[in-house]
Amino acid sequence: MINIQEITKIYSSKKGDVIALNEVDLQIPKNIFVLIKGPSGCGKSTLLFTIGGMLKPSSGKIEVFGKAPYQLSEKERTLFLSTQLGFVFQSYHLVPYLNVLENILLSKRAGNKTVTAEQAKKLAQELNIEDRLKHYPSELSIGEKQRVALARALIINPQLILADEPTGNLDPENTQEVLNHLEKFHQAGGSVIMVSHGNEADELADITISMGKGKITNIKTK
Ligand code: ADP
Repeated sequence: MINIQEITKIYSSKKGDVIALNEVDLQIPKNIFVLIKGPSGCGKSTLLFTIGGMLKPSSGKIEVFGKAPYQLSEKERTLFLSTQLGFVFQSYHLVPYLNVLENILLSKRAGNKTVTAEQAKKLAQELNIEDRLKHYPSELSIGEKQRVALARALIINPQLILADEPTGNLDPENTQEVLNHLEKFHQAGGSVIMVSHGNEADELADITISMGKGKITNIKTK
């Protein structure tokens, strides 16, 4: 599913260079729940966004589902991301001026022709936000915001969901609910790559990748 060879990511600024990923190699098969763990600043998010086609590495090779995301044209890459990959972030990243229904249907705006309002409503029911479809993100609880973000990721029927600390802002009850939905997606044949610095998803992970200072330090398989 994912093949990474000698990926290095350097953030350059006037204050100096930061080597966020240092010659990382990684192969991840399909239909798997991967957990990326490690201390703050070790490169977890950088690795996730690089896999997700949102952050071009400084050097190295990456293939996701047989495609090299950074060799696609801008248009092809947008279509690839909006039809194959779902994203869930710690801070939800909902569009504040769109209501819940419009947020769930966001990938339609990026060219995904397969998503429909009917599907959005069905998912909203499953995620218990069906009575919030006309509301705006600022009117939702944090648990509801994250469930909208999940619905937005799930609606495209992605092969892979990339989740960056998806439960980082949530209480234990909402944490469990989000994890249950990710696990359900995984059990139905999807893949999940989740970044966390906590232990909440340890039991779910088929593969746990530990990182330190831009390197993978350990890979544990269940
Ligand atoms: P993690 O997700 O493990 O907390 P990150 O991938 O966010 O780590 O960051 C890895 C390193 O890269 C950190 O030292 C961080 O400060 C640095 N970094 C992240 N984003 C940028 C950026 N846009 N510009 C400069 N440095 C960055």
